[in-house]
Amino acid sequence: MDKNSSLKYEQVRIIVSHVPVTNIAVILVGFLFYHLMHDKTNNNLLLGWLALLFAGTFARLWLWHNFNRQDSEKWLIQYTLASVFLGLSWSLLFLFPIDQDNIVLIGALLMVYFGIVSAALPALSSYLPAYFFYTAPSTISIFYTLHGYEQQVYFVLSFAILIYYMMMVFFAFNSYKKNMGMIKLKIENKSLVDELTNEVHQRDIIVESKTKELSALNRALFRSEDQLRNVIHGANLGYWDWNFQTGEHEVNDRWLEILGLQAEDIKNNVSDWEQRIHPDDKARMQSIVERSIKEHTSYSADFRMKHKNGHWVWIQGSGSVVEYDETTNKPIRLCGTHEDISQRKELEQKLEYQATHDELTGLYNRVELWKSLDLEIQRSKRYSHQLSIFLIDIDYFKSINDQYGHKVGDLVLVEFSKILMSEVRSTDITSRHGGEEFVVILPETSLDMAEELGERICQKVSQTEIMSGLHSLKITISIGISTYPNHGKDSNQLLDVADKAMYHAKQSGRNRVQKGKLSY
Ligand code: GH3
Ligand code: MG
Ligand code: MG
Repeated sequence: MDKNSSLKYEQVRIIVSHVPVTNIAVILVGFLFYHLMHDKTNNNLLLGWLALLFAGTFARLWLWHNFNRQDSEKWLIQYTLASVFLGLSWSLLFLFPIDQDNIVLIGALLMVYFGIVSAALPALSSYLPAYFFYTAPSTISIFYTLHGYEQQVYFVLSFAILIYYMMMVFFAFNSYKKNMGMIKLKIENKSLVDELTNEVHQRDIIVESKTKELSALNRALFRSEDQLRNVIHGANLGYWDWNFQTGEHEVNDRWLEILGLQAEDIKNNVSDWEQRIHPDDKARMQSIVERSIKEHTSYSADFRMKHKNGHWVWIQGSGSVVEYDETTNKPIRLCGTHEDISQRKELEQKLEYQATHDELTGLYNRVELWKSLDLEIQRSKRYSHQLSIFLIDIDYFKSINDQYGHKVGDLVLVEFSKILMSEVRSTDITSRHGGEEFVVILPETSLDMAEELGERICQKVSQTEIMSGLHSLKITISIGISTYPNHGKDSNQLLDVADKAMYHAKQSGRNRVQKGKLSY
């Protein structure tokens, strides 16, 4: 609704609010005058007048009944026309010829005139043309009522009526101005209120849509959290959440379960991890985590942690920083998982042991021997050290098998390995080269030192009684020695020389040590 229509509507509203009272008053006053005048004037004319009066009144009541906000401008014109019609009807009342001496009737007519002019003031002054055209006809015709009086009385009364009417027009004008001012204020207020209401409504819409967005986000967040929880649970993973700045450390039940712990066993800070990690793994893990923080990458590494029962549990730990301080770039929060890989580790270690060790004696196998020999030669080269090797072969081993059986032969191999292990240094590498042949790598050992050790081993072996059930037997061995760099620069050359020296020992009567030579 535009401003002009609102203005009209408010004007009309003032009029509408007075319609029932004023029009009912008109009907009552109409009847009253019919009663006062019906025997003093032409009755038919009076009835005609009353009919006109009622027609105007009913027209106005009908308009009131059918008032519709949308076409208030049209309504105002129609109501003004009806009022003009009613005003004209009123004016006819003052044209009836009456007895000038009937003071009561004259007085009543004057009173009704004053009533018309004054009662219309609040009802019609919101629209001045309506007020004016409603009251003007009666103001003119009232002079006719007084025309029978002598000139002086007529002038005085006419003057008084004129003054009264001018005063009322003046009041009506003032009242109109006041009404219009109030209406304008009201419309302005209303448009302000409308604006505010509209703004509030817009905000409500925004708040509602934001709330919807937020709850959708919440639902998505809840779902992804739930999925993450399920994944962690399904993968049987321990989970940890570490506040790097405060040191607070939260873990899930599985994290505790892996270490046989209860919630009350931990302090919920990073010491829960630091105090339980294997001392040999701690520095390595700390540097792995530090690198991950520095390089903004995730890490995954294996380490051991102490179980409540005291044994070590192999853990595969993965994690990364999930939150950095944007200004300082320092980590705020790290999260990650623990997986109990003890069984896998055990299997790996078993497989690795099997791949590198001889099943019967527990010494290193041939593969590991070659690998170790290459490495030790490299090391000797780097540090300019000497290195010697023994190639040991048990004398007449075949006859032990033949005499006592294969099982006793195996036992002899095991017992001999023990003697060998007890005689060499922990830094020496002892291996079963195959059958009843053994190779010992002796780092940082000269040919002479090796010979001395070989003699000692030969002696020890020959003096040791090996018990097998009811049998007790003794064995001897032959040892060939070669030395780096004297006899060669690589594994093949050294083993070749040692093999030849051992063969030489056999030839020379067995149970002896033979130093290698480049030629025999
Ligand atoms: P020599 O003094 O010349 O070394 O005589 P020898 O009897 O030891 O000769 P040879 O090297 O020919 O014999 C080695 C024997 O060792 C042959 C083989 O049956 C036996 N042998 C090889 N590996 C094993 C094993 O794992 N267990 C047993 N019990 N015997 C083995
Ligand atoms: Mg042999
Ligand atoms: Mg032999």
